[in-house]
Amino acid sequence: VKVAVPRETRPGERRVALAPAALRQFEKLGVELLMQKGAGLESGFDDADYKGVTLVDSEEELLGQADVVLKVQPPTEKEVGMMREGTVVMGYMTPHEGDSRIKELCKRKITSLSMELVPRISRAQSIDALSSQGAISGYKAVLIAAERSPRFFPMLTTAAGTIRPSKVLVIGAGVAGLQAIATARRLGAQVNAYDVRSATAEQVESLGAKFVDTGVKAEGEGGYARELTAEEKKKQAEVLADYIAASHAVITTAAIPGRPAPKIIDKATVERMGRGAVIVDLAAETGGNCELTQAGKDVDHNGVLIVGPKNVPSSVAIHASEMYSRNLYNLLTLLIKDGELHLNWDDQVIADSCLTHGGEVKHGPTRERLE
Ligand code: NAD
Repeated sequence: VKVAVPRETRPGERRVALAPAALRQFEKLGVELLMQKGAGLESGFDDADYKGVTLVDSEEELLGQADVVLKVQPPTEKEVGMMREGTVVMGYMTPHEGDSRIKELCKRKITSLSMELVPRISRAQSIDALSSQGAISGYKAVLIAAERSPRFFPMLTTAAGTIRPSKVLVIGAGVAGLQAIATARRLGAQVNAYDVRSATAEQVESLGAKFVDTGVKAEGEGGYARELTAEEKKKQAEVLADYIAASHAVITTAAIPGRPAPKIIDKATVERMGRGAVIVDLAAETGGNCELTQAGKDVDHNGVLIVGPKNVPSSVAIHASEMYSRNLYNLLTLLIKDGELHLNWDDQVIADSCLTHGGEVKHGPTRERLE
């Protein structure tokens, strides 16, 4: 089985779908690895780091012989055009957008497995890229906040006086939020955190943060949150406003699957924050948790800085690529039997992850949208 890794082409994407640290595992699977020359450079890996991998100059030549293609960003129409019928491609497929790209996958009868669609069941944890990359975002968001803040995060006792620790608030305590809490605690900040799922209270407290109870509980399906009613939103906003106003840094991570990000911080609340306060909005790309957030930009509102970073995992390219490669490897193990490619549709992980196969869109909501 030939497994090919092209260079990522989307501007700003520094990750690669195969990191040298995962090579041994792939080799044990008995697959033949091929990579486009220089594919790892942006991530910090030289071609020489890929021992045993066949390096190919042209993307066309690479994709034209692949049985399996490993990607980070969705394959472009041009890339899909270079693949043979029946090729399996794995990576982010952004099933909610890029209709012409999805149609091209169908037209070319490509089997696409979407990392966004991997079911969140225990057996699939090692395949779950939303989790591996979400944890990276949570970590990095705190570093961004600390770097942009005009304050120390830790308490410091010095000859020039004692500095009080920064107050950090984390909104949304899922995978990214919990990592943000842990990182802010390691930097010595005093951390408060909030989530609508009450199960998170214990997790927040086990990390040494204080859980903010707004009295609003909104457990949805499959361990996710549901959207709040107008009344719940108002109640939540009232309690949170005082915490937000008193914080030196706020990290927001709140999301609801398949919906735009919930708006949690309005302009009036930002105006209650002190000069020098920083908001890092990890939901920027899906509309933002703060009303003033602009994706990919810094907004200064009366001395409060609102940062809306895009593609945060890409900025931790080495480790993000390592973790992502392992997610892909673990998915690939489900497709290889006795050295041959074999798609077992009775396996929930394969069936749920599949976006397109044999000329059809397999993912229900995407199929309905395209019809
Ligand atoms: P997510 O990125 O969809 O959302 C982030 C957080 O925002 C969630 O914790 C959610 O409850 C919270 N949120 C939504 N609306 C909010 C609001 N109005 N105010 C405050 N917070 C709000 O979620 P995620 O981090 O990807 O994962 C969420 C859940 O899935 C967790 O329970 C996690 O344990 C579970 N999970 C399971 C697996 C697995 O078993 N394979 C893998 C990953 C995650």
